[in-house]
Amino acid sequence: MKLLEEKILKDGVIKSGNVLKVDSFLNHQIDVPFVAELGKELQRQFADRPINKILTIEASGIGIACVAAMYFQVPVVFAKKSSGSNMDKDVYFTQIYSYTHSKMNDVVVSKRFLSKNDHVLIIDDFLANGCALEGLIDIVRQSGGTVEGVGVAVEKGFQGGGDKLRAAGVNLHSLAIIESMDAKTNSVVFRTEE
Ligand code: 5GP
Repeated sequence: MKLLEEKILKDGVIKSGNVLKVDSFLNHQIDVPFVAELGKELQRQFADRPINKILTIEASGIGIACVAAMYFQVPVVFAKKSSGSNMDKDVYFTQIYSYTHSKMNDVVVSKRFLSKNDHVLIIDDFLANGCALEGLIDIVRQSGGTVEGVGVAVEKGFQGGGDKLRAAGVNLHSLAIIESMDAKTNSVVFRTEE
């Protein structure tokens, strides 16, 4: 998506450890009209699917998931990273390795909000090695629901998670795919569409 690629080139900052910071518009400060364009495009990409729910993971997926949900007119469920005392005991549970924090998180979703009747679009802000999305797919599988697709804002293609998911048959669409990036020159090369 040209709009997102241009925004990354203008406002993205490459940090060490292959981390791209887009916190001025996507996942810390949120440029809502801009993210609305991403949500609209995700709705266009998955318009042929009978989606009745969006699933994401706290915290940075929530913004884009909520904006996309306005276009799908469906609720958003976000997976929580630990089971707090006010969390239901009846939960789907998985473990997800956090790319940005280098640690394993326990992740839960209440069984009240996901069931075998659900047709789910999974959304996240970033895709690197694919652990977050694999965990969310696992949660939908536990619920007996159907993963209709996975929508991502920024895929770092060189880390391989996206290609692994596609090879496994996941209906994945990323709005921008980064082929390579260089922290020294703050330069980004995008994958061109086949
Ligand atoms: P994965 O599980 O695919 O390895 O990593 C995806 C998760 O890690 C996303 O939920 C995202 O929050 C975080 N993440 C991975 N790479 C980046 C990055 O370059 N920048 C930011 N801001 N988050 C990232």
